[in-house]
Amino acid sequence: MSLFDAPLFKDAYEQLEDAADVMGLDRNILERLKYPKRALQVAVPIRLDDGSVRTFQGYRVQHNMTLGPGKGGIRFHPGVDLSETAALAMLMTFKCALVGLPLGGAKGGIEVDPTTLSRQELQSLTRRYCTEISMIIGPNTDIPAPDIGTDGQTMAWFMDTYSQLKGYTIPGVVTGKPIAIGGSLGRAESTGKGVAFCVNFAYQKLDKVIDKNTTVAIHGFGKVGVPAAEDLAAQGARIVAISDVSGAVYNENGLDIEKCSQWTQSGKLLKDLDGVKLISNEELLELDVDVLIPAAIDGVVTKENAPRIKAKIIAEGANGPLTKEAIQIISARGGFIIPDILCNAGGVIVSYFEWVQGLQNFFWDLDQINSKLHDILKDSFDNVFETATKYNTDMKKAAFIVALARIERAMRLRGLFPA
Ligand code: GLU
Repeated sequence: MSLFDAPLFKDAYEQLEDAADVMGLDRNILERLKYPKRALQVAVPIRLDDGSVRTFQGYRVQHNMTLGPGKGGIRFHPGVDLSETAALAMLMTFKCALVGLPLGGAKGGIEVDPTTLSRQELQSLTRRYCTEISMIIGPNTDIPAPDIGTDGQTMAWFMDTYSQLKGYTIPGVVTGKPIAIGGSLGRAESTGKGVAFCVNFAYQKLDKVIDKNTTVAIHGFGKVGVPAAEDLAAQGARIVAISDVSGAVYNENGLDIEKCSQWTQSGKLLKDLDGVKLISNEELLELDVDVLIPAAIDGVVTKENAPRIKAKIIAEGANGPLTKEAIQIISARGGFIIPDILCNAGGVIVSYFEWVQGLQNFFWDLDQINSKLHDILKDSFDNVFETATKYNTDMKKAAFIVALARIERAMRLRGLFPA
């Protein structure tokens, strides 16, 4: 099977191709970005609590490393396969380049539903996976981080396993670690915080201000959605709808975000919350709100439901939540889309800070981290907005253009080996 048979990979490459056409990029440069540099598929056998052995499929894909070591998360999800991992690795190449990090793009994952495994089984899975991919990762080569289905604990097991293999503690092999073992302040909430910053920048560009009349719907009230909701509520916005796997909750007067996040963080489902109207995830996406934040998974807005999406601003908190066709439909009716590689880049930006702090063994305070995060995202947003104006194109293509221009420059300087 070709990678191009998979919708997410085909979409990611076609978006790249479209941006390359708009900017007039040399086809030889595009050709070099078409396939991942390196892809490793591994068997991850573990002993389950009942004594039986089960083998899971794992992957680590490095898309391009022209700008620096590979960077990108590890996903534990039933939908993980080689083509999805390759597509997400490709997006990481452009995300890192867009926000000016000296890093390339990579991604990893295991095809597994982590909610069906015990803590012990998850630990075995993480440690065996780390061992299997250990030959291509490292603090100078490729640095994993959390993604869907993984968290600080996963990174702690991962770092410990890699360190055991090498014989000494190597915090720089992963980011998104707990603070107690070399994690960075602000990393946990950085992706959602970045989304909230980007929504604010979009409001500024549109000459509007966020206030109590600003309505927001968030698809996926998790690692990205919760801090985005908290920050936007603090900016004065009214969060009217949020969702999890059990469905969505709606309150036109605004939800109590603190109460909702305490509820979900204690492991309870949103559908069991009192005093709210239950709606479906599909209905949430189509609400008549000012801002829609799809922050769960890819492919939730397609050409089928795109014509019914009413939000004025769509902030892509997840990776690839809008298909290429959906982006075309929404852009054509004047919807303002903040593209994923910009909107959710806060996570990898603070990952980069964590990596740098780890390499230096010198740690920064939260104000420094948040103000550096803000400044990098502000510059990147302005750059994408000006590029969109210059080329008379949408924000998605503009984001790819900015990233492609940086990678092209570096590729030309480094040359093609052998010449
Ligand atoms: N998984 C996150 C992303 O998709 C973070 C990656 C990282 O921090 O390396 O951007």
